[in-house]
Amino acid sequence: MTRKGERAAAGGLAFACFAALALTPPAVGAQVETAEGADRAEGVRAEAGRADGSAWLEREAFLMGTALRVKARAGSREVAAVAIEAAFDSVDALERRLSSWRDDTALGRLRAEGRSAAGPATLELLENARRWSRRTDGAFDPTLGALVGAWDLRGEGRRPTSADLASARAASGWRCFEVEAGDGDAAGGADEFGEIAARCPGAWIDAGAFGKGAALERAVATLRARGATSGLLDFGGQIAVFGSPPDAPGDWPVSVAHPDRRDEPAVRLALDAGSVATASASERFVVLRDTVRGHVLDPGTGEPVEAWGSVTVHASDPMAADALATALFVMGPEEGLDWAEAREGVAALFLRPGPDGLEIACDAEMSAMMERVRETTSKPETWKGC
Ligand code: AMP
Ligand code: MG
Repeated sequence: MTRKGERAAAGGLAFACFAALALTPPAVGAQVETAEGADRAEGVRAEAGRADGSAWLEREAFLMGTALRVKARAGSREVAAVAIEAAFDSVDALERRLSSWRDDTALGRLRAEGRSAAGPATLELLENARRWSRRTDGAFDPTLGALVGAWDLRGEGRRPTSADLASARAASGWRCFEVEAGDGDAAGGADEFGEIAARCPGAWIDAGAFGKGAALERAVATLRARGATSGLLDFGGQIAVFGSPPDAPGDWPVSVAHPDRRDEPAVRLALDAGSVATASASERFVVLRDTVRGHVLDPGTGEPVEAWGSVTVHASDPMAADALATALFVMGPEEGLDWAEAREGVAALFLRPGPDGLEIACDAEMSAMMERVRETTSKPETWKGC
């Protein structure tokens, strides 16, 4: 299938800048769901033939309101192309269930009409999201659509009146939703399987904090099922990797940007697998009584979290990395570090700009990912645990 914008590969340039992958924090409040009418444009970026007949292929598509860049290796260029195509389709399919920026998806209908049919895959994702809410004591809570509306986080931002804030808080939380698994059979498919309904007027679910991660999980699984043996995916700043990088077998180099200066790498990591996601307040924000707040809300208070810096989370499951980056941003660098330290399989890095420079704090698991490349990192002001 030829995609819009496809162009001949720049074969000679193949992967010259592969090692310089930059991970900038995703824009705070970046739409992870596509606004109506947004286009999906992509093209072949680079490819390289290998002596053993395997090939790397790179393509980019516009999905969920941002760019998804995929580099994948397979036994042949054709296999890689088909695998990447299928990965894009899997993300597209997820967006058609999760987006609340349009009315023709399960979560979009829930927002517009207060109830919606939902297929088994959608219900499973919501169950998974609910589990992460529980595990983070509600710091991650996608049921706060009403609060996103009250603060106008999808627009210019505004401080709600205390009455509006109170009613938005009353319309947020898992207790505001009822999920019915339905008795249809999964093979019957589509969205007729179960139902999700809002119990509180005005309540809706915002997939903004986990949609990209869930999509990366789907994309990686699809690439592997279609024969890709290695790959790197960059979805608007969240990275996922599997297999080994081109040329140098070993870890994938990823840099984490300074929270205030997104073009400046602050820390370098070496990933062997899994995904890293960053939450910050550095790009889209609202200013309230002279304090800058991002698009992450503290479900405990209903208020946007102050812009204290950024947190980067590594986990094997991309959806977990995404949800946990948001959760640890809510918890903040102290409580968040304790939380991550106590959880096996969750690595966290906190960057906090201060009067004496950048404070860098991380748990033992993240420290292990940094050590291998520490000597290439410029000396920061303060290290804590790294
Ligand atoms: P992220 O960029 O992954 O941190 O997600 C931020 C987006 O998720 C916001 O733009 C809101 O749409 C939504 N959101 C804000 N606060 C929370 C929260 N505490 N838990 C879950 N979703 C949130
Ligand atoms: Mg997130």
